[in-house]
Amino acid sequence: MRIVGIVAAVLVGGVNVASSQVVLIDSNEPTVYAYCQQFQTLYVQIREQTIEPDSARAVFSGIMKGLQERFRNQETTVYDSVRIDSLMRNGAYFNFPLRGYSPRSIGGTHGEGYRGRGFDLFDYKVRGSHPAQDIFIYDRNQDNLDDNTKAPVDVLAMTSGVVIGIETGWLPGSEYRGGNWIWMYDPALHGLFYYAHNNVVAVTPGQWVQAGEKIAEIGRSGYNAYKARSGTHLHLMYLQIGPDGLPQPRNTYEWLLTARLTK
Ligand SMILES: [Zn+2]
Repeated sequence: MRIVGIVAAVLVGGVNVASSQVVLIDSNEPTVYAYCQQFQTLYVQIREQTIEPDSARAVFSGIMKGLQERFRNQETTVYDSVRIDSLMRNGAYFNFPLRGYSPRSIGGTHGEGYRGRGFDLFDYKVRGSHPAQDIFIYDRNQDNLDDNTKAPVDVLAMTSGVVIGIETGWLPGSEYRGGNWIWMYDPALHGLFYYAHNNVVAVTPGQWVQAGEKIAEIGRSGYNAYKARSGTHLHLMYLQIGPDGLPQPRNTYEWLLTARLTK
């Protein structure tokens, strides 16, 4: 594909090889937005079980490697594992994902709501794990509004990154568990954040979002989240992408404890 492009550029003439190569990379490689579209398509295929888990794994890995490469080309992003480790240990890197709330609102006493074992992103039939933290708001009448302020609660991006997929069409009665969700890719961590059960999604795929920016309003969308026994909460998951391009869930509890709070 790239060879065809080089031939075409040479035929146009008057362009030296070095500059034409730069142009070719921009025109022939998928854009970040194209990866977002691929991700969105894949995620729906997994949910609908129209793709085999092994095929899904391969497609996912390709998308993650492509995204990493795309952002690696931007000189502002420095990649090395030492830097990623120090970002993860630095509480100031993370923004608490609910405006007006704090770690006291995390489900369980010490974040034991996290159960990472048995998780498989690529097999919708696999259930039982909960590789996430649930963060609850005061909403006894379950109207998606904070009981004290009578206003919606903003979901904020934990870190800066690009929105790679959203769902906005969930309706009560739908069996889909995530409801109206958002997937974001953080190129500095090379990881994915998943924010589920939103009432309103305020971002679109391909959009760059700064840490602390509003991405949604909390809600009760999702098969179980909508049930009366469930308190209104944000379901927050983080997946670390490995060198093979595949995801591994990681507990965000320590990050949440030291994250910057937003009033
Ligand atoms: Zn949850």
